[in-house]
Amino acid sequence: MNRKKSESLFEEAQRYIPGGVNSPVRAFKAVGGHPLFIQKAKGSRLWDVDGNEFIDYNASWGPLIFGHAHPQIVEAVKRAAENGTSFGAPTELEIEMAKKVIDCVPSIEGVRMVSSGTEATMSAIRLARGYTKRDKIVKFEGNFHGHGDSLLVKSGSGLMSLGIPDCPGVIEDLAKNTLTLPYNNGDAVVELFDKMGSEIACLIVEPIAGNMGVVPPKEGFLQTLRDVTRQHGALLIFDEVISGFRVGLGGAQKLYGITPDLTTLGKIIGGGLPVGAYGGKKEFMDHIAPVGSVYQAGTLSGNPLAMAAGLEMLNLLSAKGVYESLEAKSQRLCDGFRKNAEEAGVPAFFTRVGSMFSMFFTDEEVVDFETVSTCDLEFFKRYFNAMLEAGIYIACSQFEAGFMSAVHTEEEIEQTIEANRDALKTAKG
Ligand SMILES: *Cc1c(COP(=O)(O)O)cnc(C)c1O
Repeated sequence: MNRKKSESLFEEAQRYIPGGVNSPVRAFKAVGGHPLFIQKAKGSRLWDVDGNEFIDYNASWGPLIFGHAHPQIVEAVKRAAENGTSFGAPTELEIEMAKKVIDCVPSIEGVRMVSSGTEATMSAIRLARGYTKRDKIVKFEGNFHGHGDSLLVKSGSGLMSLGIPDCPGVIEDLAKNTLTLPYNNGDAVVELFDKMGSEIACLIVEPIAGNMGVVPPKEGFLQTLRDVTRQHGALLIFDEVISGFRVGLGGAQKLYGITPDLTTLGKIIGGGLPVGAYGGKKEFMDHIAPVGSVYQAGTLSGNPLAMAAGLEMLNLLSAKGVYESLEAKSQRLCDGFRKNAEEAGVPAFFTRVGSMFSMFFTDEEVVDFETVSTCDLEFFKRYFNAMLEAGIYIACSQFEAGFMSAVHTEEEIEQTIEANRDALKTAKG
């Protein structure tokens, strides 16, 4: 496969852009070589600048649950753009979006739109601290909540792939108020809250971890989080930036029947445009300015293009049978991968919730950051490159999720399972 043009563009990009990329996860650092520069994409397919074609399971890191350039989403964006790209004043579209989100997500009675998932989690935490008048927050090792200072502690894929343990620039005074615990360990949560529950403003969690690869919550884990936070007057924040509208219209909270106090959203609700949102009961949301005194603002928040794209996406997802089909296709793909691994004698642990899935190259059961860390990263590197060579584009790190879209075909899934079989053999050597 010829990738000369991507290679030369990457060299040029590195002269002008730190590391040649506008987000470090794109740099292919963990898998060697250089990133592909993308020319265009349509449906489940990507084309790079050298004209190579790929079946895409990265979906721009999650948002594109209806594939690339879906005609209805493109049309909605065009229509919106013709009427102006930003007004800095409210629009009816924002009401429609809010109503749709409130309709779908059990915990949300009021919602504020922002421009990224990072902004959503930062703002939710500020709200939790403002509401409870407490400073400390609790998060889990290997959970990623964007790059806000308070949250950039033991935070998952991007830093894991680069081997960055702690981020310089996050000041000690802030970091010391972020307490981290192992994922899926309810006892550790109970113990910590028993010790300092009265100082804790909130606990933030990915209800389905998606940023150390997919690690589903163990039975009872989320219920423990709900019980403990309620008991100690701390807010429970579900970061559903990935899982929201990915595992169902109501996200992980609906799937598992646990209602958090605040929820953060992003990725899918922007329909591929930059969006984030945070919401919850009115009791909490009324503390945000201009009603309350917790300040949070944004020049492009609720942007009409992003609202149009996001709404169209949510409407597409609301059609009958979408999630059932995603479930069936994802199961078929993962069953194929599992069979291949068994036949090739490759130790692998599989996880999947709906259309988000992982294949961990380890013989341990993966339940938290520590067990994820047992994966054979050299094996992943060889596997990744063999898949790429076969025209299958997956995330360039062991610690990321794979995503199925509604537009992947049965033939493409078969083709992917075959590529996986060969790639496992190649990687095994
Ligand atoms: C991607 C992600 C974020 C950050 O969203 P951005 O839009 O990249 O800022 C936050 N939380 C989770 C769970 C995510 O997956």
